[in-house]
Amino acid sequence: RTVYLNGEFLPENEARLSIFDRGFLFGDGIYEVTAVLEGRLIDSASHMARLERCAREIDVPLPVSTDEIVAIEKRLIEENGLVEGMVYLQLTRGAEDRNFLFSEDIKPTLVLFTQAKTLVTAPIKGLSVKTVPDQRWARRDIKSVCLLPQVIAKRIAKAEGCDEAWMIEDGFVTEGASSTAYIVTADNRIVTRGNSHKTLPGCTRLAALALAAEQGMTLEERPFTLEEALNAREACLTSASNFVAPITRIDGNAVGSGEPGPVVKRLRELYLERARQTAI
Ligand code: PLP
Repeated sequence: RTVYLNGEFLPENEARLSIFDRGFLFGDGIYEVTAVLEGRLIDSASHMARLERCAREIDVPLPVSTDEIVAIEKRLIEENGLVEGMVYLQLTRGAEDRNFLFSEDIKPTLVLFTQAKTLVTAPIKGLSVKTVPDQRWARRDIKSVCLLPQVIAKRIAKAEGCDEAWMIEDGFVTEGASSTAYIVTADNRIVTRGNSHKTLPGCTRLAALALAAEQGMTLEERPFTLEEALNAREACLTSASNFVAPITRIDGNAVGSGEPGPVVKRLRELYLERARQTAI
């Protein structure tokens, strides 16, 4: 595989990073994951906008423009013959001798690589989630590489045979370990939290909610409790790697009929159709 590191395209085994990189020592960095379908980038503009915002929030300058990043991503897709999967990007503050404080002239580290993965599997399978306490920090809107709480949450979910963890705070579902959480109520309202510091504003969420609104589906942007989720008619998650995916079990309890429901199935179809149309 060809990877990108600070201005160079290299075979993956020749890419070398310092052990003093602050991404490694402090988790001082951010990342993005963009899906690739038929060799093209999905929701690229939103991922680049989020990257710019997060870089600004942590005060790390982007070493190249987002247009150049997209060009790098396209070159990696091309060179690696990637048809379906994702492009991973990581931006860290850079490397220098270990110290909490950093110097003014520190140079950021930018890494990108591709990962082949089957993303669109038909027929769609209902996912199971396990709930865990949300043990993350107070700025979850920043896509930080400090993912230890999510690593632990996913491990717990996996140990229970579940596909994803849903994180709970004060009785409310904040989001999935790597996805946005939704329920569909008995009167067919799609409920998901509004964006705030408490969750990551999902790029897939942004596109899916716009489509739902366009199609006249009823949306409610508000927190929902675990109890509401257990009584919901349908549930789903969205993320760059799963698009819109139905959830049919929460902590071992069937959601609604226990099968993927019509609202979520429709939203998935709409999303995939639009994603293909707008891919670049
Ligand atoms: N929430 C969290 C905590 C995530 O890590 C992710 C993606 O990794 C998402 C939500 C979904 O965001 P997106 O749709 O941009 O992939």
